[in-house]
Amino acid sequence: MTPNQTTGIKLYNTKTRKKEVFTPFKADDVRMYVCGPTVYDRAHIGNARPVIVFDTLYRLLRHVYGQEQVTYVRNFTDVDDKINAKAAETGRTIGEITEETIAWYLEDMAAVGALEPDHMPRATGYIGEMIAMIETLIEKGHAYAAEGHALFRVRSYEAYGALSGRDVDDMIAGARVEVAPYKEDPMDFVLWKPSSADQPGWDSPWGRGRPGWHIECSAMAKALLGETFDIHGGGLDLQFPHHEDEIAQSCCANGTSEMARFWMHNEMLQVEGKKMSKSLGNFFTVRDLLAQGVPGEVIRFVFLSTHYRKPMDWTEKKREEAEKTLRKWTLALTSDGLINKRLGDGAADQGVIDAISDDLNTPLAIARLHELFKSAETDSDLANFKASLVLLGLGERVNLGASKTFSDIVVKAQFPELQTLSDNLAVARDEAMKTKDFSEVDRLKAAYIEAGLEVRMSKAGVDVLRGESFDAAKLEGLL
Ligand code: AMP
Ligand code: ZN
Repeated sequence: MTPNQTTGIKLYNTKTRKKEVFTPFKADDVRMYVCGPTVYDRAHIGNARPVIVFDTLYRLLRHVYGQEQVTYVRNFTDVDDKINAKAAETGRTIGEITEETIAWYLEDMAAVGALEPDHMPRATGYIGEMIAMIETLIEKGHAYAAEGHALFRVRSYEAYGALSGRDVDDMIAGARVEVAPYKEDPMDFVLWKPSSADQPGWDSPWGRGRPGWHIECSAMAKALLGETFDIHGGGLDLQFPHHEDEIAQSCCANGTSEMARFWMHNEMLQVEGKKMSKSLGNFFTVRDLLAQGVPGEVIRFVFLSTHYRKPMDWTEKKREEAEKTLRKWTLALTSDGLINKRLGDGAADQGVIDAISDDLNTPLAIARLHELFKSAETDSDLANFKASLVLLGLGERVNLGASKTFSDIVVKAQFPELQTLSDNLAVARDEAMKTKDFSEVDRLKAAYIEAGLEVRMSKAGVDVLRGESFDAAKLEGLL
């Protein structure tokens, strides 16, 4: 199959510190691995950055090489001491916590327009593969067992430090490396560690224990993508030591000279110029934003307005501007039912494709979208504009049930009556809670539904939206 592209994709490769032309090992089998979350709590907005960045790349790769030709793997780390601590703190089981957190994560990432990867392996599903890989490392002299642990012998791998440009001796001189009695060398890192009776554990040649963090990605990437694949991604905080350790394990166990051809890292996210942290009180989750009524598409738009290799600042001002722009665009596309009816399938604009093909230059892609919007004159222009938005993961109605979508907010702006009707019903409901007489609530609800509206009532509040048979003329009779 001929890749669907006129210009090549160029990506900045952390490994070579250069922007390089991206050529996959096989054009009909493009493979990407991205390190996923440790699942013990809601994803904070920083966690959404790699998701949105690599989702944008995934969409581009699918566009260029074909949907079936790209395999994207993102793992869930479901064995970790932070999860154990959460279980001890809450009295809940580890399984309950990880299941709940994974469901939240998928819901929140869908809300920001992220497609689900083709595989989402959980570490606990690959313990056998991890043990096998550690055994191979020990056989080859790259690892050793000591006091219930298995450790990677860093000095046995000459290329250690190449990804992050560090020298092992400098690292020892400057770093706070843990000196444990069972380590031959302070730089050696844990592949396997013993578990006490109350910690999760699996039987292994080194006793009952659990894997270190790094080995899980090496084992899962190999199982699902093979010994060598095209792209490996994650946040910049993972470059060292996590990715350096993944490379050492995989290359030494598999006898290969590289694990992935391209290594990509997104810069970190800050809030109003400051590091996000619980103690500064500027820590918030994706769900917090969605619950405040910030549509997922607005969150995505704010992220895409900064290049992924630049530190990104989340500010209220950016959120407001993103909302204004998207409102303007969506209004034009929905004003007379255009988006679903008259607008056929457009073709994504080459300028937008070129911008994201140049190391994911999403700010340039957005600038191009502004130009396209300004110069659009016909339905066909608008259809192409819409297709370009969709390529960036915008302009689709995502996660309809779980949060207010952008379109719902736009409709509210177009028909302020809907807000008045919501408010009236909320007042009636508050009153009924006091008197226990719900007849007025039932009457209003029935009248709204009769008029083609959809009524959503939950603990969180009351919302009246346009239903399937919505007709603006019917609003008048209700006010
Ligand atoms: P964790 O669950 O902490 O392992 O993080 C999951 C993913 O989110 C990793 O790819 C991290 O690099 C990324 N990440 C964590 N915090 C931030 C942040 N503040 N900005 C951008 N990416 C982050
Ligand atoms: Zn990883």
